[in-house]
Amino acid sequence: MEYTKINSAILAEIENAIGAANVFIDDESLANYAHDETEDLKYFPEVVVKPNDTASVSALLKICNQYHVPVTPRGGGTGLSGAALPIFGGVLLSMEKFKAIIDIDTENLQATVEPGVITEEFMNAVAEKGLLYPVDPSSKGSCFIGGNVAHGSGGPRVVKYGTIREYILNLEIVLANGDVIWTGANTLKYASGYNLTQLMIGSEGTLAVVTKIVTKLIPAVSQTVLMLGSFATNEQACAAVSAIFRAGITPSALEFMERKGVEWVIKFDDIKFDLKDDVNAFLMIEFDGDDLDTIFKDCEKVNMVLEEFGCTEVLFADTAQQKEDLWRMRRTMAESVKSNSVYKEEDTVVPRAALPKLINGIKEIGAKYGFESVCYGHAGDGNLHINIIKGSMSDDDWNNKLKDGIVEIFELTTVLGGTISGEHGIGLVQRDYMPIKYSEIHLNLMRNIKKVFDPNGILNPGKITPNL
Ligand SMILES: Cc1cc2nc3c(=O)[nH]c(=O)nc-3n(C[C@H](O)[C@H](O)[C@H](O)COP(=O)(O)OP(=O)(O)OC[C@H]3O[C@@H](n4cnc5c(N)ncnc54)[C@H](O)[C@@H]3O)c2cc1C
Repeated sequence: MEYTKINSAILAEIENAIGAANVFIDDESLANYAHDETEDLKYFPEVVVKPNDTASVSALLKICNQYHVPVTPRGGGTGLSGAALPIFGGVLLSMEKFKAIIDIDTENLQATVEPGVITEEFMNAVAEKGLLYPVDPSSKGSCFIGGNVAHGSGGPRVVKYGTIREYILNLEIVLANGDVIWTGANTLKYASGYNLTQLMIGSEGTLAVVTKIVTKLIPAVSQTVLMLGSFATNEQACAAVSAIFRAGITPSALEFMERKGVEWVIKFDDIKFDLKDDVNAFLMIEFDGDDLDTIFKDCEKVNMVLEEFGCTEVLFADTAQQKEDLWRMRRTMAESVKSNSVYKEEDTVVPRAALPKLINGIKEIGAKYGFESVCYGHAGDGNLHINIIKGSMSDDDWNNKLKDGIVEIFELTTVLGGTISGEHGIGLVQRDYMPIKYSEIHLNLMRNIKKVFDPNGILNPGKITPNL
């Protein structure tokens, strides 16, 4: 695809359409939006724009579509797959001024919100009305709800409540040519043709720009109980995961953490935690509800399952502070790893009973290629984040051999019935691995869907499918 560089005439048209005060070409702005949270990747846009209403996004896209200027939408910039990186330059479309929570409808249990609202702020706003929006990625303090939609995001509570896919009812979107539509209806059911709302979720800004979001809400729960089980081996902890569900219990979160991740969090985040020598893996299990007796009965059942799988100790977080500390330990694991070593993160997901095979396989592949890995993640969903550590690997091996190791990890994931991203998306860095899981027939369907929505290929080009 050939793209046009932004010249002074195109820039003037953009400024005229959306207001010069919303258009930035200074070095600092270009540098600020050249990266997200994906490793150390940097791609500079030619212009950063920060419109504040749908009409401005529409006017912008019309111009870019006419001149074949690439447009990369961006939310909070917390993505881990390089999806918000403007790899062909062009316009970086920041949605940060779309900050309004337009309506919280307590009768229908729905909210209408703009995509630039920080996820945690939205959760807090609905909580004030006694309601719950349970999609809480660990980055909830800085990611935007629009970015969550575009990435099909999850988080610790998916295991009970589902991903963002279960909570999005309707979207206002701007198409590549500037047309504006709503994708569905504000209803809990939808059997009215192709479901464009679901198609938009996880489309990573490659099909349209989301400008309004209607979410489902549920009643808030009043109680949570958090427990931490310790295990001698990764395999034991991972094997216990599916057994918990087979025992008829659905926790509200079920997270796996490897010892090394906990060690690094203790060092990085100064968290006080008594890490015993014989413990190599943890399961963090949360229950929620309104009735503590029911919750404790579930805890007892889980305790019995954990014992069967060799759990050496179960710790209950008694105070709100202990709960917060344990969750902080899990949430800061990615940053801790980052601060300690050059790394690469992969986001694998398999049917949950396959977790023991996945974790053992990852370690075997690491031994073969000479890399260490720190694994943690949403085990209840079969979703493991693998942080591959450069450690003592030579630059040559890191730059040339590692890719083969990652291919083997994704081949294993595929053989186990899983796929190459559970929640972080494909973006730029997983794009070339897509053929491991998906046939050319499948990829061509994706490419053709893209062409229908965006014939000139201006929206976030170079993402999701290899060889557009
Ligand atoms: C410490 C840490 C913890 C994390 N934990 C989790 C987790 O638990 N679960 C999880 O799922 N993810 C997690 N992530 C990944 C990341 O936070 C999510 O992918 C998040 O949804 C990205 O949101 P964002 O607003 O930062 O989007 P960005 O990174 O800015 O953009 C992501 C994608 O969305 C597109 N986009 C953004 N806004 C729009 C819009 N309005 N219209 C169209 N396209 C748009 C962009 O073009 C890009 O393709 C974590 C990241 C970090 C750094």
